[in-house]
Amino acid sequence: MNLGQIQSLSEEVINKIAAGEVVERPSSVVKELLENALDADATWIEIQIEEGGKKRIRITDNGNGMREEDLHLCYLRHTTSKLRSAEDLFHLKTNGFRGEAIASIAAISQMTITSRTENDTEAKWIRLSGGNLQETGTNNSRKGTAFLVEDLFFNTPVRRNFLGSDALEGSRVLDTVTRIAIANPQVRIDYKVNGREVFTGVEGSDLRSRIAEAIGAGVARKMVPVDHTEAGIHVTGFVAPADETRGKRNHMFFYLQQRPIWNPVAGKAVVRAYEPYGKQGYPVTVLFLDMPDMDFDVNVHPTKKEVRFVNENGVFLAIHHAVRNALQNEGEYGAPVIHLSDAVPNFAPVGTSNSDSPATTYAATGSSFSNDSVQEPRRRFEAPPEPIAQDLFSLPEFGKVIPLTAKTFQTPTKVDSFASPQFFHLAKTYLVCEDAEGLLLIDQGAAHQRILYERALKIIEDGSGIETQELLFPELIELSKVEASLLQSVLENMDQLGFHLEPFGGGSFQLRGIPRELPLSRAIDAVHALVESLLEEGFDANPAHDIIAKAWAKGNAYQAGDSLSSEEMAQLMAQLIATQDPMTSPYGRPTLMRMPIEDINKRFKR
Ligand code: ADP
Ligand code: MG
Repeated sequence: MNLGQIQSLSEEVINKIAAGEVVERPSSVVKELLENALDADATWIEIQIEEGGKKRIRITDNGNGMREEDLHLCYLRHTTSKLRSAEDLFHLKTNGFRGEAIASIAAISQMTITSRTENDTEAKWIRLSGGNLQETGTNNSRKGTAFLVEDLFFNTPVRRNFLGSDALEGSRVLDTVTRIAIANPQVRIDYKVNGREVFTGVEGSDLRSRIAEAIGAGVARKMVPVDHTEAGIHVTGFVAPADETRGKRNHMFFYLQQRPIWNPVAGKAVVRAYEPYGKQGYPVTVLFLDMPDMDFDVNVHPTKKEVRFVNENGVFLAIHHAVRNALQNEGEYGAPVIHLSDAVPNFAPVGTSNSDSPATTYAATGSSFSNDSVQEPRRRFEAPPEPIAQDLFSLPEFGKVIPLTAKTFQTPTKVDSFASPQFFHLAKTYLVCEDAEGLLLIDQGAAHQRILYERALKIIEDGSGIETQELLFPELIELSKVEASLLQSVLENMDQLGFHLEPFGGGSFQLRGIPRELPLSRAIDAVHALVESLLEEGFDANPAHDIIAKAWAKGNAYQAGDSLSSEEMAQLMAQLIATQDPMTSPYGRPTLMRMPIEDINKRFKR
């Protein structure tokens, strides 16, 4: 190739490159077109997708429409009716501002745009292929605009191959629709998948009703209102009450000036506000932030709406205090307890990924924020599980995971042949015992997860099945539509694991039977953990049964703080040794650590 010659790229190539930035997948198309409809003052928007949006996306609105000249301009790059000067970039009040979404989507699809303004006697339509005009015409559609986007990535097959399954892409579209629907309760939004009504938000809803429509009526009823201003930042919305923190990360909705944003600081600030109540997890959150334009930068990423705040600490504190006050005002949800992560700013867990313990991660990483201004009310000391180990972990030998050897325990083929050592229960989190080489510490949660994970895998793979206990009073499990569709696709496997779930309409399931050995609350946790993993990992990343087994293990395993009898500790150890990979949890955390007796002797200068 002769590199010496500079040629300008054709418009077509430029558009394809730009499309890669804006259009990652069907959900990005839906996001851009929905935002355009809102900018056109629509009060009703209908979204229809087929085959996860890969085959067809149709978005119809009753907004202002485009005049014929504008219809012929809108699919060219950098054409916009919203941006007049570079200065406007810093005062954006509309959703779009770069004038490239339609050009980018058109470049990689077959697109038909139909539009009619109030003054038109008929609607005009244009049909494009790969961004090139093919045909024009008229029809008698009503006022507003309809975008039909077909065969996404038809001319960029490699990109097409990167798309997930129809179910996965569909669930991403629904997530996008949900996020935007919550921010615009005044607008009627209808969402249909393969012709089936999936979501309806009625026109003129208030925020709580829209949350009910989008996330679930049960949650919406209980949510606590938030309204707080601090350092020029206005925080409003709703959060789950303090006794209801079993949420999923995708149920945390943050908006900046009514637009969905993603920013990790906001999530941390909320999670921290629940910690005094001894709660972990992601509470359902719908929070709107408002602050002066110059205090943030939205233009970080063209599609993801990542936002940078000029004063991150201020935003953290404003959100944290807003949620904390809301929870306090709501009344008594048990006394807050202090966590060492508050008292010891730089505490961080040692040597573990914490991938299945998000709240702990937040507690640790949140330490960069000023802790003294995050005073919690009515502090009461309770044995905090993790931090006790801090000094021990600072000993170099203790950070290391030393493999079990034959000398330690003869790996028993039958678990009952195991001669159990004496256990000491440390902080209701670790089993401490002596083994042939020294001192052994076992993390009860990680170890139990390993045992249950292998057990679940085996059950699913050999089709054996776990005994079910039918519930006298079935438990209602409310999920979002995306989650419901994911859960629906694994019902059979769940059945093998002892969970009898029946669709109950509108994203709800009835839990009619649970594994015999599980308490109900744990069974419910397991279902939620499963749904969360399905959402996060998707079916394409991992075989579904692996996700199910992991989630099942996570939901059912002992947690830090669970009391165990000597008998239970002995059983746990015996079963752990019998697993195929006793050293790590299914999420990659260590299950045990050892300090050899020689090292202990050395420390005592023997
Ligand atoms: P931007 O939104 O950044 O202006 P787009 O490429 O998304 O860029 O849209 C280009 C232009 O097309 C918009 O500025 C607007 O004038 C027009 N347009 C797009 N969608 C609609 C719609 N649903 N109703 C009316 N006008 C629209
Ligand atoms: Mg736009």
